[in-house]
Amino acid sequence: MTDRRSHVFYRDLKTEYPLAVAGEGVWIVDSEGRRYLDASGGAAVSCLGHCHPRIVKAIRDQAGKLEFAHTAFFTSEPAEELAERLVRAAPDGFTRVYFVSGGSEANEAALKLARQVHVERGESHRIYAISRLQSYHGNTIGALSLGGNPARRALFEPLLGLPVAHVDPCYAYRHQGAHESEEDYGVRAARSLEEKILELGPENVSCFFAETVVGATAGAVPPAPGYFREIRRICDRYGVLMVLDEVMCGMGRTGTLFACEQEDVVPDIITVAKGLGAGHQSIGAVLARFPLVDAIERNGVFQHGHTYIGHAIACAAALEVQRVIEDEGLLERVSEAGETFARRLESAFGQNPHVGDIRGRGYFRAIELVADRESKQPFPRKAGLAAKIKARAMAAGLVCYPGNGTADGEHGDHVLLAPPFIASDEELDTIVEFLAGAVEGALGEVA
Ligand code: PLP
Repeated sequence: MTDRRSHVFYRDLKTEYPLAVAGEGVWIVDSEGRRYLDASGGAAVSCLGHCHPRIVKAIRDQAGKLEFAHTAFFTSEPAEELAERLVRAAPDGFTRVYFVSGGSEANEAALKLARQVHVERGESHRIYAISRLQSYHGNTIGALSLGGNPARRALFEPLLGLPVAHVDPCYAYRHQGAHESEEDYGVRAARSLEEKILELGPENVSCFFAETVVGATAGAVPPAPGYFREIRRICDRYGVLMVLDEVMCGMGRTGTLFACEQEDVVPDIITVAKGLGAGHQSIGAVLARFPLVDAIERNGVFQHGHTYIGHAIACAAALEVQRVIEDEGLLERVSEAGETFARRLESAFGQNPHVGDIRGRGYFRAIELVADRESKQPFPRKAGLAAKIKARAMAAGLVCYPGNGTADGEHGDHVLLAPPFIASDEELDTIVEFLAGAVEGALGEVA
């Protein structure tokens, strides 16, 4: 802790935050020399750990060559190379990449891109976006309008005037029927999109937004098998653009560069951020398929822009992140060691009567805590279990990402883990061990 009076304000004005002064691999060091194992990369950001020497060098080199050239006049080498790499790695048909500075900006841009595509195609009546309950798409007004997290929206509800409708999440742990297969549940969950499209009038619907694997709101919730294939079918049937928000789950976090590669679907738009710059620079991107871009290119201009889009240093850092991932075989590592990580979580928490679900993919894992395993009854929000786990974990030197759902009773507190791809087996063990201590201590306070 610091004894200074801070003029910086973050989320919680009452908390005195430790002063982070250094980063070394998976560790963050504070001004008092305390070390914190960063098991969540903040919020799934730092996929290569902190101060990765190759990324630091790429940033230095680019800063000495060209830091910025406005995109109204120029493109740049790192932006071109990064876009080419992402397009090559993306599912079939993706041809263009629009760089922004983060996840909310990426989703705002995607929302506008979808709108403009429909207008260029002569379907300007398509104004509705549909997204899911239990989702988070960012904190700017457009992205917050999309999000289905009542707690984050509540204060700003009167400002969220966009034409957005919400449908059911795909959340097997709580919604799959006792006698229903995962596949049947996936199709049933997807059908709530079809119902909503029909209710709004298919001719009025622009796009559907979903996180491929849900992150902050519910904690590493993977889709049921076949869910997104059914979503694709529905979107195609009604001319609705399918946007996958991979801001948190993309860029290798689940073991493939794009999480949707594991779903056997090709969306129309993908948004990414967080792991793209690996925390070394602020960068996000919107990837678009050819038919969309073609519709806009006939008229020439995507009506959007920010000063810092395509920032040369940010693109250079992100480009080097991609090279490191390739050179060090990190997708394979996340995919394989992710399974070991899951087994370790299973052996630490599988018998715990207050851990209802252990889930996720690759290095994107979560546990969901419940008061009663049989009924899946969550602890009351006012018990503050997630906050207690976070505080205990920090005190033990572990950064994890607990959350407490969207509304009382809807789902339990969860803890999200998103360790750097470079974490060793021993470091993964330490994460599980520290978390087990924090969870046990916090449960002792509330259970
Ligand atoms: N989309 C998802 C799925 C996210 O998890 C987040 C951030 O947590 C965002 C969008 C917003 O990104 P940013 O905080 O970079 O604006």
